[in-house]
Amino acid sequence: MTGEGTRSVHPPAPRQIAQRPLVAPIYRTSTFVFDSAQQMADVFAGREPGWSYSRTDNPTALAFADAVAALEHPDAVGQAFASGAAATSTVLMALLGAGSHVVAPQEVYAGTWALLTRQLARFGVQTSFVDLTDLGAVAAAVRPETRLLWGEVLANPTMTVADLPGLSAIARDAGIPFVVDATFASPAICRPLEHGADLVLHSATKYLGGHSDATGGVVVGSPELMASIRQARVDLGGALAPDEAALLSRGLQTLPLRVARQCQSALTVATALAAHPKVERVDYPGLPTHRDHALATQLFDAGRYGAVVTVTPYGGREAGMALLDRLRIVQRATSLGGTVSKAVHVPTTTHMSWDDAALAAAGIGAGAVRVSIGLEDAEDLVEDIIQALG
Ligand code: PLP
Repeated sequence: MTGEGTRSVHPPAPRQIAQRPLVAPIYRTSTFVFDSAQQMADVFAGREPGWSYSRTDNPTALAFADAVAALEHPDAVGQAFASGAAATSTVLMALLGAGSHVVAPQEVYAGTWALLTRQLARFGVQTSFVDLTDLGAVAAAVRPETRLLWGEVLANPTMTVADLPGLSAIARDAGIPFVVDATFASPAICRPLEHGADLVLHSATKYLGGHSDATGGVVVGSPELMASIRQARVDLGGALAPDEAALLSRGLQTLPLRVARQCQSALTVATALAAHPKVERVDYPGLPTHRDHALATQLFDAGRYGAVVTVTPYGGREAGMALLDRLRIVQRATSLGGTVSKAVHVPTTTHMSWDDAALAAAGIGAGAVRVSIGLEDAEDLVEDIIQALG
């Protein structure tokens, strides 16, 4: 008999079951055991399917990526990441090289802006930040060394809608991939691959997980393009952990139900606030007054215009911060897409490095408050925000 130390770490092997589990089990293991040296060599060399190491591939993480891919496009495959930023950095590293140029939206997510300007710029990557609503300006920004067009389905906090067919035509003409960050929409609203995008990316931390209890990212696209994204993921190391993957997969099951209700409530809130005398401006593409209402109606699933509403009270920064302080149901918290409604004062958080002139030029008021609508009763949210207007 072996000693207690040996027996402690070598218990009988977990029982294998022939039946298929209803839900993907959590494979909380960093590595996998082989029956023989030959099998190990064959799996490492890719001659035989198998699992070797969880940074390379983990079944629970892949189950989540597969589930998202099935929502995005029937022919697409996915890869899961430790965060949306890990997904973004991996895509950028996979598709760019020294001397590459990128065309990205002027209101791109601050973390993506930081990756491009703080990190990749050191490796000789240049980025032109342009107004993506101006297709002529986008086409004019493309250079011979441009390797990537980046877009966001809905931009923060103005909820500007990307003209996906128009932008993908520009990318196609230039022979470069069009990558779309669809975090603010989710596949329950819009599937960019259907409109010509080459890759779609999400911070799964937001709508896909949906419960504000897990951090993750996912990228979906054609098997050919995704092969290089997977390799970059393995090399860069931003793999999604199995416990997070299980939480994200559970959240994903209710995505269409949550998003449908959140969108409906968002329209109710936006409509009520737009009619309020203390409100200067409401940015929500479901309102016929939003600049991109027609485009959103064309690209988005019926009645679903997203669930982030930006409300700007009269009175500048002070009024925006006071609104935030008076909220009782909506929580003062960053992030979006969860079951609980959250709000941020835009100029002092997500856009804190912008001065008032830059904010005004981008159509963002000094008092702008971004509200991510959750699953509370819409009437309660309307009442909460209206009382918070003071
Ligand atoms: N893309 C967008 C549009 C986001 O809003 C965020 C996070 O807020 C990210 C990417 C990054 O995702 P994560 O925070 O999961 O790294």
